[in-house]
Amino acid sequence: MAESAFTYTSDTLPDQIDVVVIGGGAAGLNGALMLARSRRSVVVIDSGDPRNAPAEAMHGFLVLDGTPPAQLLERGRQQVRHYGGRVVYATVASAAPATPSTDGDLRFSVALTDGRTVTARRLLVATGLRDVLPEIPGLAQHWGHSVVHCPYCHGWEVRDEPIGIIATGPGSIHHALLFRQLTGDLVYFTGGTDLDEDTRARFAARDITVVDTPVAEVVTAVDGTLAGVRLTDGQVVARRVLAVATGMQARTAGLEELGLPMEDLPDHMGRRFSSAMAGTTDVPGVWVAGNATDLTAQVGASAAAGALAGAHINAVLATADTDAALAATRATA
Ligand SMILES: Cc1cc2nc3c(=O)[nH]c(=O)nc-3n(C[C@H](O)[C@H](O)[C@H](O)COP(=O)(O)OP(=O)(O)OC[C@H]3O[C@@H](n4cnc5c(N)ncnc54)[C@H](O)[C@@H]3O)c2cc1C
Repeated sequence: MAESAFTYTSDTLPDQIDVVVIGGGAAGLNGALMLARSRRSVVVIDSGDPRNAPAEAMHGFLVLDGTPPAQLLERGRQQVRHYGGRVVYATVASAAPATPSTDGDLRFSVALTDGRTVTARRLLVATGLRDVLPEIPGLAQHWGHSVVHCPYCHGWEVRDEPIGIIATGPGSIHHALLFRQLTGDLVYFTGGTDLDEDTRARFAARDITVVDTPVAEVVTAVDGTLAGVRLTDGQVVARRVLAVATGMQARTAGLEELGLPMEDLPDHMGRRFSSAMAGTTDVPGVWVAGNATDLTAQVGASAAAGALAGAHINAVLATADTDAALAATRATA
């Protein structure tokens, strides 16, 4: 599990609980917050490795703009605990449907990699996604600092810098136009991806330089900062920042037995858990929220989706509780 900038205190894991939230990023914590405030017993199981961990600060989220990601999540965990929710620092090894309770309500069995288990009435999957970078030597070491993906997350911070777009597919063309909004010094490295004449003319009209020679490696200066890219012909193109549209893959480890439907998005954008209204899935009793199902969601959208899913889970449980109470009343009448 990842190191945290904060001491990651871990609560005890009960045997049974209303809801297990798998993943304690913005989506999972906001889902847990809604559930805990509704007096549902809820535990967040989190391996402490959020997607934006490399970033110094989170931007574009009203009021909290500029907050370090670890600080935001630590405050979130505190708020979940304030209402009685639990947060366990652990990794889910498996989650699967279990034998329904005697009243017919759903049950799920969740096992952790350390051997502990918990049974839940409902699950909220908020495991986020993995960014897949192109395999260019030297690129990964700058990820989240000088190698960026999101103009809204770090665009302002790299404004007016010499920026290079490492093209990974058709989506990189629009990526270039978004970064052109932030700098007048933009080079587009096609890397063998198609670039038709119309797009080349549009780029030329915006003073975007196109380089077709493939990138051999990213060059790092002696002080550790990004210095540019070396092309396969040996030429070095100086750049301070590289922008790359990553492949985005929902994190599925440990969730296989749930059988949640998944889908690929167009243009090799990535793969996500399919979901419908409020994060419902085709698997009764299982919801998904955040980047695991919405690959382009930023922190605000992920938190909102988690909150919506948490509220919907509470609503479904309220109905199930009432059904069970009515059945018990009739059984004793
Ligand atoms: C470098 C970078 C910078 C970014 N900057 C910004 C920004 O400035 N502003 C912004 O709005 N967005 C930013 N984002 C996007 C932001 O990271 C996501 O929107 C956000 O993290 C999604 O929240 P989430 O809760 O869905 O997933 P995550 O935050 O990724 O959280 C998922 C959690 O689930 C846990 N988990 C996964 N699998 C398991 C398992 N099997 N068992 C237990 N736990 C598990 C992980 O450890 C993780 O803690 C940035 C992204 C990157 C890559």
